[in-house]
Amino acid sequence: MTSLPAREATAGAAVSDGSLYDLDRILWADGRAADLRARYHGLAGQALLEPLLKWEFPGHVAQVSSFGTEAAVLLALVAEVDPSVPVIFLETGKHFGETLRYRDKLTKLLGLTDVRSVGPDPKALAAKDPDGMLFQRGPDSCCFIRKVAPLHAALKPFDAWITGRKRHQGGMRIDLRYIESVAGQVKINPLADHTPDDIKAEFERRALPRHPLEAEGFLSVGCMPCTDRTPDGADPRAGRWTGKDKTECGIHTAPAGT
Ligand code: SF4
Repeated sequence: MTSLPAREATAGAAVSDGSLYDLDRILWADGRAADLRARYHGLAGQALLEPLLKWEFPGHVAQVSSFGTEAAVLLALVAEVDPSVPVIFLETGKHFGETLRYRDKLTKLLGLTDVRSVGPDPKALAAKDPDGMLFQRGPDSCCFIRKVAPLHAALKPFDAWITGRKRHQGGMRIDLRYIESVAGQVKINPLADHTPDDIKAEFERRALPRHPLEAEGFLSVGCMPCTDRTPDGADPRAGRWTGKDKTECGIHTAPAGT
């Protein structure tokens, strides 16, 4: 199995103007994702992460983590391959204190050396959310300012990023592929096929600590104003944006390359 050297691999990005949405970059990512899908077909989890982190995108890949209820598993898998892979955490300013402390605990426990907490642009906040209540008036706009735009900026230096999304989470994730091309970047979803039982087994195998709010009934944890306890028997994400016509924050629904 051969892999492209990192510099060759980024040639498409190198001719771009730096925007994640320019055509050169989108075409490059489309081709790269298709090539990787063909060459690593059948691999998942750590078996997929190993070649992608070590050979395909060394120094050019980041992980994005919410430090939510299932996040520890992917963080551990990536750390076991390379603990210096940058981890981007969107510090929206609206998180539970428990999440911030869990982030710090996992960072230390797993030996992560480059966790980047990135926040919204203060000028955008002052202009669009001066009272901090935009989550009530316009949750999509709030997510854009506090999550989508900061992530877009934080990911600019990278050719690929890793997410913890899974097919069993339903909705737009039901057909999730391990490797995608999205808006000029390669997106890697190594846990796409993991079930809740698989995640539970990984937590136990590695003796990973659980998010402290899980024991209090929060099976999916996001920003405090937009997260409720999961109703008994409901989908774990049913406590997110309760009562609103919204199921995703927008970081995974950007214009796609393919
Ligand atoms: S989840 Fe809620 S508080 Fe957090 S950025 Fe989105 S709308 Fe704002």
